[in-house]
Amino acid sequence: MKKTGQYGIIELERPLARGISAVTVNDPTFSDLAGVITGMKPVTYTDCAPAELPRIVHLCGKLKLSYLLTEEFLGKRGPHFNDAKKMVLIGRNPADLKKAALAWSVHSTGKKWGCLLGYPECCVDAYSKWVAYRKKVKPRPDIIRRIFANTKKTGRLDFRLNNIWNYFSRMDFTDPLDRGSYERIMNNNADFDLPSTHVISWHACAYDCAESARKAGVIFSFMQHHAPAYAAELRERLAHPVIFWDKFRYAFVDGKLEAGTLRYKAVVPPWSLLGDKFYRLAACFDSVKADKSGARFSRAGKPLFRVPAPAPLLLNFSAE
Ligand SMILES: [Zn+2]
Repeated sequence: MKKTGQYGIIELERPLARGISAVTVNDPTFSDLAGVITGMKPVTYTDCAPAELPRIVHLCGKLKLSYLLTEEFLGKRGPHFNDAKKMVLIGRNPADLKKAALAWSVHSTGKKWGCLLGYPECCVDAYSKWVAYRKKVKPRPDIIRRIFANTKKTGRLDFRLNNIWNYFSRMDFTDPLDRGSYERIMNNNADFDLPSTHVISWHACAYDCAESARKAGVIFSFMQHHAPAYAAELRERLAHPVIFWDKFRYAFVDGKLEAGTLRYKAVVPPWSLLGDKFYRLAACFDSVKADKSGARFSRAGKPLFRVPAPAPLLLNFSAE
């Protein structure tokens, strides 16, 4: 989402409660807050700076939500914690918050924890399998190719499940390369707030996961009702086909995928780590095809530029 003069705040056309006519972009994200209010997520959590706590407590009071300070409740610190952050669980039912804290303390990527966060069971299972798989493979594979490989439907992909910018739970923060790439991609797009530019906060098991689509539909409708301008911008960002090589190298385009050819009018931001040279080149063409030998870019039907294998995925995210 494009940062505005009031970066960090989403103005609501219809308040969530008396006095709540704006929400912050993070801590919790609007997606997570919407998930809790609509019942799509029994619990959500956020790691926030202690200075943010009074605001969260006030928000929960106004919205009749409960919150739990996980480290105080458990009397211990976990891998999420560092001295600068507090882990706060937010939900409608205090008993769910306690259950979630206990589940998390046992296994922070476990099934019980994931399901209490409202992630569909199929997606929790798929994510756990991917976590186990990526430990065995070098370099560690990204989750996007796996999600696409699990997708049976051909044709358009639901933009509400577009998770390309959602690096949460996809990063290996022990890897300096991963950390550096993440920092560079955030710096390349300093005028966007990428970490919150998504409809659902979890990684679907497939881009045609019915339960993720159902939950995404409820969350997105809630956003449209309360913040139509924000929801429209979110759709504008996410509903674009993507030429996807890997976690940090991909291009969003204004175009359409038909019969294996992605025709496009323009390459659009945010910008990945493909580099200025690539973006300038890609802007000279109007279509791309992918096959085993790589990607073929053409202009007016003439192949003019080839990017060698591996072939990128052509992810056809679209609103209709
Ligand atoms: Zn699923």
